[in-house]
Amino acid sequence: MRFGLGFDIHRLVPGRPFVLGGLTLACPRGPVGHSDGDVLLHALVDALYGAAGLGDIGDRFPDTDPRWKGVAGKVFVAQAVKDLAARGLKPAQVDATVFLEAPKLGVRKPELAAAVAKLLDLPEDRVCVKAKTMEGLGALGAGTAVAAQVLAVLGRGRAARKASKAPRKR
Ligand code: MG
Repeated sequence: MRFGLGFDIHRLVPGRPFVLGGLTLACPRGPVGHSDGDVLLHALVDALYGAAGLGDIGDRFPDTDPRWKGVAGKVFVAQAVKDLAARGLKPAQVDATVFLEAPKLGVRKPELAAAVAKLLDLPEDRVCVKAKTMEGLGALGAGTAVAAQVLAVLGRGRAARKASKAPRKR
């Protein structure tokens, strides 16, 4: 079993769409970023690559490369899942916390978890998305930033399991 920890933070400015977990939330502000600024999915990608020992999101999708400009977080997650599968690994569980002062994520937390579960092809009970406010402290508390922290657990993918069950050559 492998564990990876991811973190991401983006500034929030008026007039940008607020994309989180691939969903668009109603919010007068949205994250600024080279891509869609989806902190939940960016932290998830870091957690996935970290667990696989493959570096971070910036190594795989450098912001100096125009190919990744404006690209949705979902695309990064899909590529990370493929990169893991190529190494016989697959996501097994995700636990995430989003730090956001407003809007309150409340009722949308299960929807966010379901969206992440779908991207990773996991049952919904293997993904948890929690939300925290920062009690008015710092940039997050002032509502001028959003952040996410994600723990990802990887198991062995089909290819690796098959390989380990194959009879050993003598
Ligand atoms: Mg980011």
